[in-house]
Amino acid sequence: MSEPLLEVADLTVDYLTVAGAVRAVDRVSFTVERGEFLGIVGESGCGKSTLLFAVAQLLSPPGEIVGGKAVFRGRDMVRLRGRELRHMRWRDYSVVMQSAMNALNPMKSMGAQFKDTLQAHGKSSAEEIRRRSEEVLRMVGIDTVHLKSYPHQLSGGMRQRAMIAMALLFTPELVVMDEPTSALDVVAQRSLMSNIKELQRKLGFAIVFVTHDMSVVSRYSDRVLVMYAGQIAESSSTAALFERPLHPYSRGLMSAFPSVRGPRRDLVGIPGAPPNLARPPRGCRFHPRCPEVMPACLEREPELYRVEDARVRCILYNGSANRAS
Ligand code: SF4
Repeated sequence: MSEPLLEVADLTVDYLTVAGAVRAVDRVSFTVERGEFLGIVGESGCGKSTLLFAVAQLLSPPGEIVGGKAVFRGRDMVRLRGRELRHMRWRDYSVVMQSAMNALNPMKSMGAQFKDTLQAHGKSSAEEIRRRSEEVLRMVGIDTVHLKSYPHQLSGGMRQRAMIAMALLFTPELVVMDEPTSALDVVAQRSLMSNIKELQRKLGFAIVFVTHDMSVVSRYSDRVLVMYAGQIAESSSTAALFERPLHPYSRGLMSAFPSVRGPRRDLVGIPGAPPNLARPPRGCRFHPRCPEVMPACLEREPELYRVEDARVRCILYNGSANRAS
């Protein structure tokens, strides 16, 4: 079997606060194959965006990677610095943020921002820059006249598309996306997601996509990581997760969102809230909210257990299953 495009192993991130280190991402491991769409889901505060930022090497203080690795195309990005990292970012992998308004420069036209990016990461003539800028803008369904537009002159949906166009300037092998559709209405969201999926099929890049929206994951991703309290609660193929969620938290997430496939049913939220990571609960971190909690759940933290092709962090599976790592 060929090497994965991205291999994240035991990645651990702390936020250094005056009260001490808060572990936001705790020994997270996963791989991404070429051309794959990996969705990362969970409630707010479960560490999914921090994980994405750590993988993309975009964490800033007080966040700090304190352990593990993220090997992309054979190189551990955790150990890369300055120029080497800047060279890889945009060319080999790129990042699309939740809010394009914050990520784009409000003082420059889209064309000028595309030009800056192309010039910063490669040598292109004025003609090549114009051609490539028009090409990527067309790919995301925006008229090329908008190369002259400033970010505030574009609608929210167009700005997100322009961000994606910018991320594709060099045709990277991996695009990491942090809730890029969350600020859009349902129609704009669906249209943007179809566009992203179509571009992925055409250009073959892999996607790591953070979202709290289970319907986006069910429709577009190949595999899913369910995060809870900074750890992987379950990782599985999308089909298996939606067919038979194993972890009680995954089941709770399923019950809280309307199914696009199955029959209509009442939506049930998960009681309580994710824990304060400065003081995570003893034993299983999900136990204060778990409908299946038992005394053993409070004794020690569950390992990740392998159940067929899935991995699940719950002692309900430790009898017949094997430890995943
Ligand atoms: Fe629930 Fe126990 Fe499994 Fe945790 S280990 S998810 S508390 S059953």
